[in-house]
Amino acid sequence: MKILVTGGAGFIGSAVVRLAVARGHEVVNVDALTYAADLRNVGDAADSDLYSFEHADIRDRGSLDRILATHRPDIVMHLAAESHVDRSIDGPAAFIETNVIGTFNMLEAARAYWDREGRPETFRFHHISTDEVFGSLGETGQFTETTAYDPRSPYSASKAGSDHLVRAWHETYGLPVVLTNCSNNYGPYHFPEKLVPVVILKALSGQSIPVYGDGGNVRDWLFVEDHADALLLVAEKGDLGRSYNIGGENEVTNIDLVRTICAHMDELHPEGAPHADLITFVTDRPGHDRRYAIDPTRIRSELDWKPSVTVEQGLRRTVEWYLANRDWWQPLLEREGVGKRLGTG
Ligand code: NAD
Repeated sequence: MKILVTGGAGFIGSAVVRLAVARGHEVVNVDALTYAADLRNVGDAADSDLYSFEHADIRDRGSLDRILATHRPDIVMHLAAESHVDRSIDGPAAFIETNVIGTFNMLEAARAYWDREGRPETFRFHHISTDEVFGSLGETGQFTETTAYDPRSPYSASKAGSDHLVRAWHETYGLPVVLTNCSNNYGPYHFPEKLVPVVILKALSGQSIPVYGDGGNVRDWLFVEDHADALLLVAEKGDLGRSYNIGGENEVTNIDLVRTICAHMDELHPEGAPHADLITFVTDRPGHDRRYAIDPTRIRSELDWKPSVTVEQGLRRTVEWYLANRDWWQPLLEREGVGKRLGTG
C-alpha cells in the first residue's frame, strides 16, 4: 500500500512511519516541522526507498492538492495536529487553525483527489484522534465509541471539532473514512514537554519532578508502538464510517506513573536514587480532566487487536531508550517553551 501520513515527524506519526516502512508499505510523510517535530524520529525508515518526505502545512490546501496528485496514495492517515494541552491553554488559535481548519483542508483535498481518481473502493481516510474528546470520567465507567462528546480543553475541543468534520464528510459526501480515539501514549521519541519524558529527564538531572495537583488524575497508558500497530490495522481493516477506541487497559494515576518511572530510574541510573524524593506537587492545570479510561472491546473483538506490552514493560523500555539517546533529546530542550511551566491560565 502507499500510505500518506500527516504529522509523520511527530511522536506517534513517526512510529506509524517506522512500522509501515518495516512492513513494506510505501510512505509519504507530510509534515510542517513545527516545534514538536524532528525528522530524526523516523529512524532507519529515512534510508528506505519506500520513504519520502514532503515539507508542507495542512493549513495550505494548495500544497495538499499537489502532494495527493503527485503521490496518489491508497490510504491517508491524518495525525498532524497541535497536541499539547498546556500550550492550547496559552495559545488556542494554533489548535483551531491546524486541528480544525487543517483537518477541513485535508478532507476537502482528499475528497477532490478521491473524485478525480474515480472513487476507488480501496481508498480510505483515517483520522487519528484522542480519548480526550469524551471529557472527564468519575471513579467508574469507561469511554466507548458511543460515549457523548464533552471536550473541556481547547486541545480536546479542537480535536472533537475535527472528528465531527470527518464524520460529516462521510455522511454527506460518502468519503470513505475510519476514525480512532486513543488514550495517552508514551514511548521513544516522545517530545520532552510531555509527562513521561519530563519525569525521566528531570530525574536524570536531579531536578524537581513536577506533578500537577494531587497527582490523582487517572490516564489509560498505551505504548506508542502498540498504538501504531493498531492504527495500521484499522487503516487496512476497519469498517468504513466506524470509529475504534484504542486503549491499553492500563489505568494509572499520575503519581503512581511517576513513582514507577522513578523506580526504573533507581535501577537503571542509581546515581541520585531514590529519585522519588524529587517529586514536587505543583498548581494544577485549569480544567484538568480527572479520569480517562478506554473500553477497547470493539477493536479487540472485531479486529482482534491487543497491546503487546504492559505499562510496566513499556515504561522500562522507554526509560532505557531515553538513557541511551541523549543525542536525540538534548537539543530539543532548547526549543521554545520546553522546560517552562505552560498553561496555568
Ligand atoms: P506531536 O505533537 O508529537 O506531533 C504532531 C506532528 O504534526 C508534528 O510533527 C508537527 O510538526 C505536525 N504538525 C503540526 N501542525 C502541522 C501543520 N499545520 N501541518 C503539518 N504538520 C503539522 O503529536 P503526537 O503526540 O504524535 O499526536 C499525533 C496525533 O495523535 C494527534 O492528532 C493527536 O491528537 C493524536 N493523539 C495523541 C495522543 C498522545 O498521547 N500523544 C493520544 C491520542 C491521540
